[in-house]
Amino acid sequence: MCPKRALGEKVSWGVSLEPHHIIRKIERPDLIHEVDNGVTLCTAHHESVTGQEAAFVVRFSAYVKRMNARAAALADMSGFADAAGCA
Ligand SMILES: [Zn+2]
Repeated sequence: MCPKRALGEKVSWGVSLEPHHIIRKIERPDLIHEVDNGVTLCTAHHESVTGQEAAFVVRFSAYVKRMNARAAALADMSGFADAAGCA
């Protein structure tokens, strides 16, 4: 979720996305593979948060929580749409 993409802005082809651990691996190595502890950032945004990760924990965690709620809502509506026979 490069912030540009999260805001609906187009990101150029060829921009690399990198995994960013919301809670640093050194602080919580047990969360290294926990999907909800990660976001993807372009290289520039990843570099901009490096060294000040703690300042972004609340914001990134809230984003992941909202995206999980959105995915659950979409899944719920998908079942409803299928049941109604919508083409
Ligand atoms: Zn970015």
